[in-house]
Amino acid sequence: MSTCAIPEGSLFEMTVQMFNRAADCLHLDEGYRKIMTTCQRELVVNFPVVMDDGRIEVFTGYRVQHNTSRGPAKGGIRFHPHVSLDDVRALAMLMTFKCAVVKIPYGGAKGGVTCQPAQLSRRELERLTRRYTSEISILLGPEEDIPAPDVGTNARVMAWLMDTYSMHRGYTVPGVVTGKPLEVGGSAGREEATGRGVFVTILEACRVKGIDIKNARAAVQGTGNVGGTVARLLQQEGCRVVALSKSDGGVYNPRGLDVEDVLAYVQQNRTLQGYPQGEAISNCDLLELDCDILVPAAIENQLLVGNAPRIKAQIVAEGANGPTTPEADAILTDRGILVIPDILCNAGGVTVSYFEWVQSRDAYFWTEREVNARLKRIMTDSFQEVLHTAQKYNVSMRQAAYILAIERVRAAYELRGIYP
Ligand code: NAD
Repeated sequence: MSTCAIPEGSLFEMTVQMFNRAADCLHLDEGYRKIMTTCQRELVVNFPVVMDDGRIEVFTGYRVQHNTSRGPAKGGIRFHPHVSLDDVRALAMLMTFKCAVVKIPYGGAKGGVTCQPAQLSRRELERLTRRYTSEISILLGPEEDIPAPDVGTNARVMAWLMDTYSMHRGYTVPGVVTGKPLEVGGSAGREEATGRGVFVTILEACRVKGIDIKNARAAVQGTGNVGGTVARLLQQEGCRVVALSKSDGGVYNPRGLDVEDVLAYVQQNRTLQGYPQGEAISNCDLLELDCDILVPAAIENQLLVGNAPRIKAQIVAEGANGPTTPEADAILTDRGILVIPDILCNAGGVTVSYFEWVQSRDAYFWTEREVNARLKRIMTDSFQEVLHTAQKYNVSMRQAAYILAIERVRAAYELRGIYP
């Protein structure tokens, strides 16, 4: 079995490389290239938090708005030890193009705090969230910049964020954040929207590849919001989920895992180590398993030059943002593997975030059935549009998704003009 290589290069530079491949196909003007490969606003904040034992810790956080030509800035907030300005820039840039691929009227943003959320108590996490929100609040607002959950954050963190912003305003502002709990203006279906969107694109990709989902085997990296939901939906559809993982390793069973049982174990133990119904497997080995569908749904830089030649899946569904490096992407494409790119595959989250924002503004809420039906339509239509573009230009699905997105951002500049 293999070992994972060290990821090569900066995530922002890799995202720019992906962008440039598509920009070359379009013969994109140099000026628009400069605009779209530069972040519009970047805020770095260093702030103190009083820990439970009375110590003061100083944390570093970021909020980056990549581009707002198509609408208010939109993007998740990540609490993770590896969060850096470079990552946040890259993830903000991905958001601009993701929103454009699915035609959601938002620009792209991202935020994060470098921290170990699992090692913080609930009260410490709340104090950190509130102080970070306060520090970046000069950028936030329902018309300006709307955060959402990402790795290490969840609906409860979004409720604290909404409350902090609202306390500063003096009234409740539900539209300042999405991914909130239902009780405080969240949307039905938001919690599982990203995973559900990934699942819809996998079904479309199976049609392209002639794979019957009921006889397929899937390996899913990550058991969080995205990975857990995709695994659950795949199993409900009859697919055999042979592997699942967390950051400290995973579990493999060629006969198929009981996804609900695995997720319950994770919930209880915060690890998969010791899970009895399968054998332990590393995150790197999971990627190279014999399966039909591979879903990296954890973190960036997983599919690299080193392991791309050994990937056995026919479909790679990028639940995570940036899991594939540009070089690995080229290898997978040359090998005929259908890679559903992140800016299409995981766009279900921002799509239902948009639904939530619309519902918050109207104070009128839709049923889960309505949300899921609208999500399915947008994801299916977007997949087909990207597929047709790939065929038209004879390029990969990733290049096709970027081509569509770049054209939409360029159109916004051409129509609005460049101020003054
Ligand atoms: P999460 O915090 O709910 O889950 C993250 C999972 O990844 C956990 O199982 C964790 O153990 C695992 N993980 C963390 N670090 C890892 C590492 N170094 N190696 C292997 N596994 C690791 O986060 P999530 O919301 O499920 O997000 C997962 C991915 O999906 C991220 O790339 C995120 O940007 C992307 N994404 C999330 C959403 C959303 O709505 N939550 C939307 C679009 C994209």
